[in-house]
Parts: sequence; C-alpha cells; structure tokens
Amino acid sequence: QAKLLGRNRYHLFDTAQEKAHKVLQRQLAAIKQALERDEFCLYYQPKVDMQSSQVFGMEALIRWNHPTNGVLLPAAFLHYLAGSELEVVLDAWVIENALKQISLWNQAGLKLQVSINIAPNQLKAARFFSNLRDSLKRHASVDPGQFQIEVLESGVLDDQPTVCQAIQHCRDQLGIGIALDDFGTGYSSLSHLRHLPIHTIKIDQSFVRNMIKDANDCAIVEGVVSLAKAFKLEVIAEGVETEQHKAALLDLGCFRGQGYGIARPMPAEKVQAWVRGYQF
Ligand code: C2E
Ligand code: MG
Ligand code: MG
Ligand code: MG
Repeated sequence: QAKLLGRNRYHLFDTAQEKAHKVLQRQLAAIKQALERDEFCLYYQPKVDMQSSQVFGMEALIRWNHPTNGVLLPAAFLHYLAGSELEVVLDAWVIENALKQISLWNQAGLKLQVSINIAPNQLKAARFFSNLRDSLKRHASVDPGQFQIEVLESGVLDDQPTVCQAIQHCRDQLGIGIALDDFGTGYSSLSHLRHLPIHTIKIDQSFVRNMIKDANDCAIVEGVVSLAKAFKLEVIAEGVETEQHKAALLDLGCFRGQGYGIARPMPAEKVQAWVRGYQF
C-alpha cells in the first residue's frame, strides 16, 4: 500500500515537473522567435532633477510587442530566461539597442544618461563583457559615461566577490556607470556598500510609496540619502507618484527622481517631445 502510494506520488511529481519543463521550453522558443521577428522594444522612463526640473536621463525598460497579447511587461516573460543561453542574447540586444538610441539622441542634440537593467548573474559572464565592449566600440559617438547598468542590490549580495569584480571591470575598463537598483530591499551592510565600485543608488519604490504615511520608511529614505552623500554616490528615488512624494524627497535632500508622477515609461519616439514639454 505504502509503496503504491509512493509510486503514485512520484508519478504525479514527475508529470508536474515535465509539464513545467514543457512550458519553459515553449516559452523560450517563443522568446527566441520574438527576438528573430524583432518584437521586443525598449521603453524609456525619464530620470529628472526634481528641484530644477532638468531631465538628466532615461531608464530603458524592455517590452514585448506580442502579436496577439499586446504589449507585455518584463514580469510576464523575463523569469523564463533566468540562467538560459537566451538571456545572454537578450542582454546583448538591450545593450545594442540602448546604445543605438543614445547615439540617435546625441545626433539630435539631446544628451541623456541612459541606464539598462542587467541580471546580476549575467554580469559575471565573459560573453557579457565582450558584448558590451563590442557594442560600445560600434557606437563610438556615445560617451561611456552616458551609459549606466542597473543591477539589483540583492543580486550583488549573492555572490559578492565575483559580481564586484565584474562591476569594477565595467567601470575601469569601459568607463560606464553602475547603479544599485531597488536599494533597501537587499540588506547591504554599510561596510560592504563602501567597497562596491558603484556610482548610483536607486531607492526602492516601496520606501518612497510609504514615506508619506510611515515615519519608519521616511527615516529609511533619509538614511539612504545621507549614506549616499557620505560615500559620494548619486542617489535617485524610484516610484515618485505624487506631488507629496516629490515634496517629501526634496525636503530630505533627494533631488533626483523617477516615477509615474513624472512620466510613465514611453516608446523612444515620444522622448524628445516629452523632454521639450516637461514640467512637473
Ligand atoms: P526596475 O528596474 O526597478 O524598474 C522600475 C519598474 O517600476 C518598471 O517596471 C517601471 O515601469 C515601474 N515604475 C516606474 N515608476 C513607477 C511608479 O511611480 N510606480 C510604480 N508602481 N511603478 C513604477 P517594468 O518596466 O515592468 O520593469 C520591471 C522590472 O523588470 C524592472 O524593475 C527591472 O528589474 C526588470 N527589467 C526591465 N527591463 C529589463 C531589461 O531590459 N533587462 C532585464 N534583465 N531586466 C529588466
Ligand atoms: Mg532598474
Ligand atoms: Mg528599481
Ligand atoms: Mg524593481
């Protein structure tokens, strides 16, 4: 009886696993095809100085123009890529397209600092570095200082020495900037942060969202801002949705912000007109 149950259970487990595996394979094939058919695109969300209303940069965020399901957000498909060979291909695509866009904006007289998002485990891959270097060479009119890579704070912690080395590599050999994304959710220790070769801290939107009604979250934002100052890092708040958020952040000396209250991510074609018309 027990044997029978056990076998049945194994059997169930196997089919569930098989199913998941099939779903994954199907999704990866679909993503591969979408790359070939050029269905991915980058949206850009402005990063601004909220005090002077100056637009200093954009964050590139991937979208999938799905033929039947509309515009898909990264949460709908990126997780399938984790650890796969295709992830390297997609990252290379993002890098190449963002650099192409920067050089187009440069030609149009619009100088912006553009950041892209990269999964921390990808930073360590040799192919990642060579892809990045080759793309930067192809777009020599782009000043490497205009280009920034955002990595999740939590991911940098997972494998500190190697990721740290990869970041240093990008900074020292290529001259590009590095930002710690979703900062405050990964529990970096202060001593650790001090040794990371980064330029920018992005305060996670959860703290910004709650800082109006929650004194603790407000204290966290204040703490991160003074930390950034002490370490001479740039700091930018994510998730600025309202005038109240903006006012509270300015109060704490956090001048840079990004969020729906400033602008939602938009297709590249809309950026120039938006920058011209920007008034918070
Ligand atoms: P992230 O890098 O932290 O990007 C910010 C996310 O918050 C974006 O979601 C953005 O649209 C959204 N957001 C911006 N302002 C506000 C706001 O005021 N309120 C709220 N509620 N949300 C706001 P999105 O585009 O869906 O991207 C989600 C995540 O997917 C990104 O988080 C990033 O980690 C990842 N991601 C996006 N594009 C790429 C990519 O090209 N490559 C990789 N590896 N990851 C990407
Ligand atoms: Mg980001
Ligand atoms: Mg973020
Ligand atoms: Mg995030």
